[in-house]
Amino acid sequence: MANSATIKRSGIVLRVTPLKEADAMVNAIDESGVFSFYAHGIKKLASKNASSVSELCLSDFVLNESSSGSLTLKEGNGQQILVKDGDLLAISTAGFLSELTKNLFFEGFDDFNPEIYAWFKASLLALKAGADPLTVGLIYFAHALSFAGYGLDVNQCVNCGAKKNIVAISYADGGYICNDCFDAEEDTKTPLLQLKILRYVFCCGKEDISRIAFEDKDLYPIYDGLEQYLLEATGLKLKTLEFLKKI
Ligand SMILES: [Zn+2]
Repeated sequence: MANSATIKRSGIVLRVTPLKEADAMVNAIDESGVFSFYAHGIKKLASKNASSVSELCLSDFVLNESSSGSLTLKEGNGQQILVKDGDLLAISTAGFLSELTKNLFFEGFDDFNPEIYAWFKASLLALKAGADPLTVGLIYFAHALSFAGYGLDVNQCVNCGAKKNIVAISYADGGYICNDCFDAEEDTKTPLLQLKILRYVFCCGKEDISRIAFEDKDLYPIYDGLEQYLLEATGLKLKTLEFLKKI
């Protein structure tokens, strides 16, 4: 008989993929990283564990770990749903944060840091509490890129290190460009407000997540830039981000 151990983990459900006979595969995240487990009979009406494996629910899980390391749900208790009821933009933004997190910090991601989970949870709580969805989404987007090793240098010109006369963001070069290094034939200048927003979203702390609401029209060009940057750096194209920009 195979040995199995029981472990406890508390985390947030990222995705539930239905399988045969009311079973499901569940992806979740906690302070140790993204993990997945098999949940038997979770789609049955009588399942007592069903509410704990709703997407974006913060839950306590008791899991059986097989000798090969695969996990199966034994018992789940939902603590709190981290989604704001009835607010389409907040719900869609939460969905984007979830898809981004699941893909960027995939199971087995080497440099996982508990701060990633803390930022994810804080961002979802801010959305639930009514903070501006697109601002919260962009702040998390920027920090997630940084945690994944794709941060942009928004402290100085990436080419010469100058801190003054910054005139553009170059996603291809990975950061700010100063006026001396700006190539009018290759690049276009970035409006000053967008440069400031970029610096804010990459550099602010967790306590600043709900402090500011930028205007949507100033945020969309940055979403477009980061979306293209994400695609070129990682190959990831997120369905939820496409949807978010259409609302
Ligand atoms: Zn320069």
